[in-house]
Amino acid sequence: MTDSIIDALFALLRRFGDDHYGEAVTQMEHILQCGHLARRDDAPAPLVAAALLHDIGQFLDGAGMAAETRGIDARHEESGAACLAAFFAPEVTEPVRLHVEAKRYLCATEPGYQDGLSGASALSLRLQGGPHDAAEQAAFAALPWAADALRLRRYDDAGKRRGWAVPALDSYRPLLAGLIRADAADVSALTARAGGF
Ligand code: FE
Repeated sequence: MTDSIIDALFALLRRFGDDHYGEAVTQMEHILQCGHLARRDDAPAPLVAAALLHDIGQFLDGAGMAAETRGIDARHEESGAACLAAFFAPEVTEPVRLHVEAKRYLCATEPGYQDGLSGASALSLRLQGGPHDAAEQAAFAALPWAADALRLRRYDDAGKRRGWAVPALDSYRPLLAGLIRADAADVSALTARAGGF
């Protein structure tokens, strides 16, 4: 059961891993760099998993290039967290769900942060509502998962280095296996969302 869920997650990531989504690196390079940055930062296992899986919503329902090609925000953080919630606890899913809000928060609170965003991230920011206003900022900071979401956001922003070789997807198999809930849904919950693969 655990193996089949991880196989399905990896198959989905590999299926679209060569896409760029407007960045200098492929999606696979990006997520592997994010996972590696989390590991290197001694992040707890759920946050490492969140870093590795945070963009999985980009691979569902053709969300990946929505900003670039259709000028819409496909809310990949929500669809990704919802999909992962079938298998993982909130320690994994909530930082995923909040990683866009974390960007909006940092744009409002950290001088220079917005200027450092990648082109694709700056483009999507506009569609995602731009920097937080004061009320949004306070609401975000009060969330129990805000700190983890901010850590994930740092990995997300840094994991875009061309030509940086990091450990492969299979190196995350034991970590993920240890995080899949005992009452996880059947793997069909994922394959249905991904359109079958
Ligand atoms: Fe990302």
